[in-house]
Amino acid sequence: MKRVRISKRAEERVRRGHPWVYQGEIEDVRGTVSPGEIVNFEGHRGRTLGKGCLNVYSTIALRVLTLDPQEEIDRSFWARRITRAWQYRKEVVYGKESDSYRLIFGEADFLPGLIVDQFASVLVIQILTAGIEKHREVIQEILWDLVHPAGIYERSDVGVRELEGLSLRSGLLAGEVPDLVEIRENGLRLKVDVKFGQKTGYFLDQRENRAFLKRFSLGKRVLDCFSHLGGFGLHAGFFGAREVIGVDISESAVQLAMLNARLNKLENTCRFEVANAFDFLRTVEREKERFDMVILDPPAFAKSKKNLEGAIRGYKEINLRAMKILSSGGLLVTCSCSHHLSWDLFLKVVEEASLDAKRRIRFIAQRGQAPDHPILLGYGESEYLKCLFCEVV
Ligand code: SAH
Repeated sequence: MKRVRISKRAEERVRRGHPWVYQGEIEDVRGTVSPGEIVNFEGHRGRTLGKGCLNVYSTIALRVLTLDPQEEIDRSFWARRITRAWQYRKEVVYGKESDSYRLIFGEADFLPGLIVDQFASVLVIQILTAGIEKHREVIQEILWDLVHPAGIYERSDVGVRELEGLSLRSGLLAGEVPDLVEIRENGLRLKVDVKFGQKTGYFLDQRENRAFLKRFSLGKRVLDCFSHLGGFGLHAGFFGAREVIGVDISESAVQLAMLNARLNKLENTCRFEVANAFDFLRTVEREKERFDMVILDPPAFAKSKKNLEGAIRGYKEINLRAMKILSSGGLLVTCSCSHHLSWDLFLKVVEEASLDAKRRIRFIAQRGQAPDHPILLGYGESEYLKCLFCEVV
């Protein structure tokens, strides 16, 4: 097996549990290594540290697979890692009321570059790195034997693959997958488009935050901004809200949200509209309409550190407007899925918005991503979702 040496700085980070070594931190590569090939890596003093996948063409050049230099990266390695991820989900995704979860969360499951979501009996797989790409067949076989899904669908149609020198791809890998997959979440029925929907079809990371709406929804008038397939809004309706309006800019998402409302017999309570949430909030404010609950679950405004400033302006604007249209004592559920916007910054945004809106805020709960999206200590990138429940006095 080929060997590479990493810098002192990278060695320290890797020892603390971070699974990435950047291009500039690779000090020496012995032999030619094809993108994604497994290599032994050693520290700056030459001590063997472990094994990883090397792709010198990618900014993230080495992805650590194991810190045990003796561990073989063979079929049984992949089977052990995948089985462990699956067993963990059996423990943390509780109750019969939900049948869908993230089965493999990449680096946080010690499988860098691999995402697998289970939607009822269907698996959706996303391969993000050249390293995983090389082992796609064995991974697929292990998943098939372990989970016995009805079908496996690939959604590797994400731009980050290009950074690894890989082309985008999506399509059926095995078995059968219907155009719309019906899942259960907290007792609701939801149709999910795993073939053409956003990301893998549905945002599973908010499952427990949606369930948390139960204690707040009865009799409320709710606005669900950035509603996608209706996840939050339908939960509010299911938990007894008087009226729910959801808005999303995607027409296909809104159509599915309406279908999901009918599926749960909530079509008289919940309606969904195609609209830009920024404009919608402005109109509501101008017309002096009031809501008892506003949910803000926008896409990641800060995709990188570079656009953090613009992102903060965006977050502040929607939070400010939401606070203005909330009735006294109303509930604001405000989220950010940008890893680059830290909790500190996010709380600051909410504070600034509240000052401008002249409303006082009391935090009810500060929540994160569901535990099937575990946060790996030492790898801060695995923490991204922030969900704040606030009383707007
Ligand atoms: N709340 C959803 C997930 C939201 S994901 C859930 O519980 O599953 C973010 C959503 O914002 C996407 O559906 C996207 O189509 C939508 N979106 C992006 N920009 C928007 C805008 N300016 N106005 C309204 N919706 C927008």
